[in-house]
Amino acid sequence: MAEKTLSIIKPDGVRKNVIGDIIKRFESNGLKVAAMKMVHLSRKEAEGFYAVHSARPFFSSLTEFMSSGPVVLMVLKGEGAILKNRELMGATDPAKAAAGTIRKDHADSIEANIVHGSDGPETAVFEIGYFFSGIEIFE
Ligand code: ADP
Ligand code: MG
Repeated sequence: MAEKTLSIIKPDGVRKNVIGDIIKRFESNGLKVAAMKMVHLSRKEAEGFYAVHSARPFFSSLTEFMSSGPVVLMVLKGEGAILKNRELMGATDPAKAAAGTIRKDHADSIEANIVHGSDGPETAVFEIGYFFSGIEIFE
């Protein structure tokens, strides 16, 4: 059965006009878009999404950034989708990201790093459910 993961094109990715480039990479690498919407998160919504990072020193700056403009939310589906998406994204810090990854090619900093991807099966379930209801996800 195809695995699902949550992808976010962050406000910097939308501002840089690379939505199409990013989706192209997913579709070219065996991932299918199963749900998609564009939203401008409130500060509270960003804080709820990143609640796991609430004790980190960068939490305030991160949630301000994530609510600074619209984002593209997607459920990606495919075999090994969680890891595949993480591979395509590259390391959190673009300076450490491998050549050819989304973050290496587009990100400006460890905070403004263009994309989010779930980091494991349990996180994926929480993150998909945070933004999408069952009838919004296409099988
Ligand atoms: P990832 O997005 O690669 O899973 P984390 O879950 O560790 O990375 O962090 C969540 C997000 O918080 C990152 O994508 C990035 O936007 C931001 N972030 C992580 N580490 C830092 C840091 N040291 N300084 C500023 N922002 C950070
Ligand atoms: Mg993470």
